[in-house]
Amino acid sequence: MKVTRIAYSTRLNPGKYAALVEQARRLGRIRSEVWQRYGSIAGVGSGLRDRQVRDRWLADGTHVQFGVLANAWKETVRDAMADIGANLAAAKVEVRRAVIRRTNDPAERTRMFTALKADRWAGDPFLARQMRMHWKRGRNRTHDQIVVRADKHHTIADGRGRLWLAVPGLERRKMVKIPLSTTVAPKGTLRLILRGGRVEVHYQIDASQMRSSQRPSGDATVGVDKGYTEALTDSDGDPHGTRLGQMLSSESDRLKERNRRRAKLRSIANTAALRGDHAKAHRIKINNLGTVKRDRQAARHRAQVRTEIFTAVHRVVDKAATVIAEDLTRKFGGRKTLGKNVNRRLAAWTKGVTAEALASVSERRGSVLVPVNAAYTSQACHRCGRFGRRSGDRFHCTWCGVVWQADVNAAINILQRAGDADIALHTPHHRVKQILQDRTDRHRTRLPVQDSSPAIAERRANHPNRSTTSNN
Ligand SMILES: [Zn+2]
Repeated sequence: MKVTRIAYSTRLNPGKYAALVEQARRLGRIRSEVWQRYGSIAGVGSGLRDRQVRDRWLADGTHVQFGVLANAWKETVRDAMADIGANLAAAKVEVRRAVIRRTNDPAERTRMFTALKADRWAGDPFLARQMRMHWKRGRNRTHDQIVVRADKHHTIADGRGRLWLAVPGLERRKMVKIPLSTTVAPKGTLRLILRGGRVEVHYQIDASQMRSSQRPSGDATVGVDKGYTEALTDSDGDPHGTRLGQMLSSESDRLKERNRRRAKLRSIANTAALRGDHAKAHRIKINNLGTVKRDRQAARHRAQVRTEIFTAVHRVVDKAATVIAEDLTRKFGGRKTLGKNVNRRLAAWTKGVTAEALASVSERRGSVLVPVNAAYTSQACHRCGRFGRRSGDRFHCTWCGVVWQADVNAAINILQRAGDADIALHTPHHRVKQILQDRTDRHRTRLPVQDSSPAIAERRANHPNRSTTSNN
């Protein structure tokens, strides 16, 4: 079974978009020509396959008038012929039913089915009449698509967490580079659909080649916020990987206690060595300060946390074809050393594991991972956009007068960032803050006095479901 996946362009330059639209328009003329010539009873009567059509066009120079590259028109001919084939197959289903109604004779049925299948129905009056009746003459309605063969495109990672898809343009050796909103490279034959200034990149992955753990994703679009008590909270309000917090804090406690004991033993050993009791110092070092058990425990803990995080990501992908998340691969102040602070080391490490899990599970299960700029997503109210107060796992928006579950509020903000035209992945932190403030200031000047508005009181009453009470 094939599963279709879609990647989207992000902030595509209008000039490039216009060039793609022009290419799709020219390819649309090719589709129309194919339908015109081969999309009818007469056309199919000729029994041509797409390869023969291509050879014929090459021979008589039909292709020259369209002004597109060779591979583009060939792929388009193939695609249009496949559309015609699908249209024909649908008609044949009706005709087969008519055959069954017409005769009970198995030999006669078989003869007609065979003729139908081999497109030899023109010579049979009954079949020819039925085909004319059921096969309505189709026409091309596709003027916004570009089909790109698997070996004609490639992706480039720009080192800033963005993937660019390079596809042929109208001129030879001049690729059009499309910035994608995902880090998963589209594979195989691509169908670019141009809609509303954005490019949708449709491609197929083979679901049958997936192991059971690689079952296809769901079809929703969800935002996720990475947390400490839960691995992830999604924008529907569902927590995933809820045991993470307990695992990390007990490990942290254990490590602090163990490090304390080891420090004490080390000091005893050092004192003994200074006293000249090297035998005792050696004994402590061998028996109490070894690394075998310590390393084994550390490995076991790491494996448990990885399982919890990967399971959490799988739960998210179970429902989502598109996962929108903070760009966790981005480093803030990269050279900062974490020193001996156990909690910070654990948090940094789990962040890395979460980034790895999001990327690898998306890749394997064919969902699309969209990294977004997460600046201020935990400080702003997702409903009104104003900055609120966060205390613990609660987020309080004084303007809306609502307390949200902080992680859910952040996840919804992250979801909304994917469609935010002003805030790009690498928009600086202070710019993001300014943009958010400008937006709420605009609202304030345009709207009447807010706090006394009956609509607000009503909204407050109608939104208890998003507040903390339902998330316990
Ligand atoms: Zn608010």
